[in-house]
Amino acid sequence: MAKRDFYEVLGIARGASADEIKKAYRKKAKELHPDRNADNPKAESQFKEVNEAYETLKDPDKKAAYDRFGHAAFEQGMGGGPRPGGPGFGGGDFASAFSNVFDDLFGDFMGGGAGGRQRATRGSDLRYNLRIKLEDAYGGLQKTINVPGSVACDVCKGTGAEGGAEPATCPTCSGMGKVRAQQGFFTVERTCPTCGGMGQIIKNPCKACGGAGRVEKERALSVNIPAGVETGTRIRLAGEGEAGLRGGPPGDLYIFIEVTEHPLFEREGMNLYCRVPVSMANAALGGEIEVPTIDGGRSRVKVPAGSQSGRQMRLRGKGMPGLRGGGHGDMFIELAVETPVNLTSRQKELLREFEELSEENNPEGSSFFRKVKSFWDGMKS
Ligand SMILES: [Zn+2]
Ligand SMILES: [Zn+2]
Repeated sequence: MAKRDFYEVLGIARGASADEIKKAYRKKAKELHPDRNADNPKAESQFKEVNEAYETLKDPDKKAAYDRFGHAAFEQGMGGGPRPGGPGFGGGDFASAFSNVFDDLFGDFMGGGAGGRQRATRGSDLRYNLRIKLEDAYGGLQKTINVPGSVACDVCKGTGAEGGAEPATCPTCSGMGKVRAQQGFFTVERTCPTCGGMGQIIKNPCKACGGAGRVEKERALSVNIPAGVETGTRIRLAGEGEAGLRGGPPGDLYIFIEVTEHPLFEREGMNLYCRVPVSMANAALGGEIEVPTIDGGRSRVKVPAGSQSGRQMRLRGKGMPGLRGGGHGDMFIELAVETPVNLTSRQKELLREFEELSEENNPEGSSFFRKVKSFWDGMKS
């Protein structure tokens, strides 16, 4: 396939100014952004094409060569020209290649300067998963956790230099982090080999941290978990994340709470539910039962005579506290009426006698059989 003309690719006329070339490229690059082209399989190759055109035309030397020789200027044998596809597209994926170019192009609009921008780096945020029991979520707790990670090096005070000396500007690149080299027609920009792009060098790296300014260390942190937390609650501890690089600010530590399941209580928001078994006879006769509460105490609850299975009773204020105040939720007792098992012959005898004496004692059953009867009657007519 013949290679398209670079001016045609960018949709501009020959002789376009540097400004027009840049504008045309920005427009095309935005149109072809991977976020907007999830279902356009051609976007990637189109973007590569646009990028290659721009890489050439933005550089006055390359542009002059292209204007004079066309694509032949960059074919093999011309020495050090960009490979087809353009630099930076060797094997990385489209999106990351894109963001490199995007940063390169828009960096000056977003406040990123050339060189030196990596020198003080904010530390990463850390995530710590903490599992707690429901009763601890009820009362809140003080917990000591061990956080793995890196902290500012004590020996060099985080600077990375022996004795805490300030790092010096890199003599090779004068702090730019990049060097230019002449190669054939072209000027090529590279990451500075002396400072690795940092723009600064440390003459005598700190021995304790190898010049990084931070060391790996497990820290014990005392954390206050407030009452009312639930699974998914995030607690942010500002500045307790990883130490910054070379004096940068530390990141934050996020504690993600997971409240484990409780054998007795189920939680729904601020309310608690507790299923309490009650014998058939007690449910029929009524009485009092004792139930546990999440604060470790107990409450007496009156079971009305004739209570059915599933009946709920509310204990006001015995639920979970609100995370931001606002009192407590309620606790609901749900009765589970049990059918007795393993009956003795005496018990069976009593139950049979009871059954013979039974008339309208089963409200649900009575209404059920009335409905069944009218259903069958309806089928006949
Ligand atoms: Zn150090
Ligand atoms: Zn340098």
